[in-house]
Amino acid sequence: MTSTHAFWLAGRQATGEAAFDVTSPWDGRLVGTVSVPTGAQVEEAVAAAHAVLDEFAATPAHVRAAALDHVSKRLAERTEEIAGLISAENGKPVKWARGEVGRAVSVFRFAAEEARRFNSGDAQRLDTDLGGQGRLALTRRFPKGVVLGIAPFNFPLNLCAHKIAPAIAVGAPIILKPAPATPLSGLILGELLAETELPAGAWSVLPVPNDRMPALVQDERLPVISFTGSDKVGYAIMDSVPRKHCTLELGGNGAAVVLADFASEEDLDWAAGRIATFSNYQGGQSCISVQRVIADASVYDRLLPKIVAAVEAQNTGDPSDPSTDVGPLVSEDAAKRVESWVEEAVGAGARLHTGGKRDGASYAPTVLTGVPAHTTLACEEVFGPVLTVRSVEGEAEAFEAVNDSKYGLQAGVFTHDLQTAFRAHRALEVGGVVVGDVPSYRADQMPYGGAKQSGVGREGVKFAMDDYTYERVLVLTGL
Ligand code: NAD
Repeated sequence: MTSTHAFWLAGRQATGEAAFDVTSPWDGRLVGTVSVPTGAQVEEAVAAAHAVLDEFAATPAHVRAAALDHVSKRLAERTEEIAGLISAENGKPVKWARGEVGRAVSVFRFAAEEARRFNSGDAQRLDTDLGGQGRLALTRRFPKGVVLGIAPFNFPLNLCAHKIAPAIAVGAPIILKPAPATPLSGLILGELLAETELPAGAWSVLPVPNDRMPALVQDERLPVISFTGSDKVGYAIMDSVPRKHCTLELGGNGAAVVLADFASEEDLDWAAGRIATFSNYQGGQSCISVQRVIADASVYDRLLPKIVAAVEAQNTGDPSDPSTDVGPLVSEDAAKRVESWVEEAVGAGARLHTGGKRDGASYAPTVLTGVPAHTTLACEEVFGPVLTVRSVEGEAEAFEAVNDSKYGLQAGVFTHDLQTAFRAHRALEVGGVVVGDVPSYRADQMPYGGAKQSGVGREGVKFAMDDYTYERVLVLTGL
């Protein structure tokens, strides 16, 4: 896997003049070298996407759906190979990487299903008022224009799938930009799309360096930007193009609430196990990782040791080993940042129960209590295998603690009570509330996105399709 990888320019393979290396965060080995498109090649891709706008929007739904089904099928067939690639470039344990491929298989399948249903239309009679007599309004959705999809490193395949599959489903051309640390998984999607009959120009996968992205973001031929990544970069993009349609899927510091009624041994074992798994899942580098546990005081003393034991039971090590639960972070710099935040918290009085050690890019699964509210760890997204646990008195204080964050992506509430579930749904300032489980649950067809500083807009196949299109009304007269 050390050959130079071409990128995908308007549906065909191309190489540029420069290239960069992709290395494994686990052992530093070279995973691949990726060719970088020149300015002229990026221009060619954008011009081709713009030129094919009408043709692609008019492509029959069955053709687009067949292409999406094809990619889904091919991803499934190549699961082991692609999971190995994700694991190598990202450091994600291969068992989680297989799961990611499975999710991308579903995303393309959902998109194929939605493409067949989409734009079946709606008719509204207008004669409910005098001025509308003899008139009927039909509505259909049309692409807003070419989409610029920008993806992060942490789900290098599935978050590229979430950009590209809905675009194809609605017939919107797309320029996809994978993350610099993990471009190979996104390029695989290009390879599979090249096996389809979609019009040339409808899609490109371009590993454009970050310092050249502002020009692409500014390009007026790309009116829709679908960005997943950090709030810092996301808001900078949105602020730089206030008239564009931007969807921002940003970070979070997910909270799991364990309430007083979730108190049997079996309940607490389940909660502790889920919390330990999903604070360490992909080294905590998921936007909906559990970062904060907020436990009712009546269960706290029994829950904390169970969490610590379950965290200590996580298998750390080589991501290519199928038994590994927690691999390295994406880079040594990322692990050093996590280390410094934990040290700051401990220096400010937090108590370390387990973990707190770094080895290169790997950071040990860590549990802390008594983390002061002003520390970076308490306020920001850690994006590492670090969990803070605190106790509260009752449901109202628990919900207040969840909301005491600038982020609001998802929250988990461990309760058996349906009324509590509805109260949580009303009270929590997040894009999604998961009852009976951690905040880290995402089904790829459900609406997904943040409140507050966790984002703007929603993904989830059908919701991204709505996002990439707008409703145009056709008023018929004389009926
Ligand atoms: P990042 O913001 O550093 O990078 C995201 C993407 O933006 C990359 O492709 C990067 O190359 C590109 N980029 C960087 N500078 C740019 C610029 N000036 N203009 C345009 N594009 C630019 O994020 P990351 O480190 O790759 O990903 C981690 C972040 O993503 C975390 O904050 C995580 O919570 C978030 N995330 C959110 C979701 C969600 O759905 N809400 C999902 C996954 C990850």
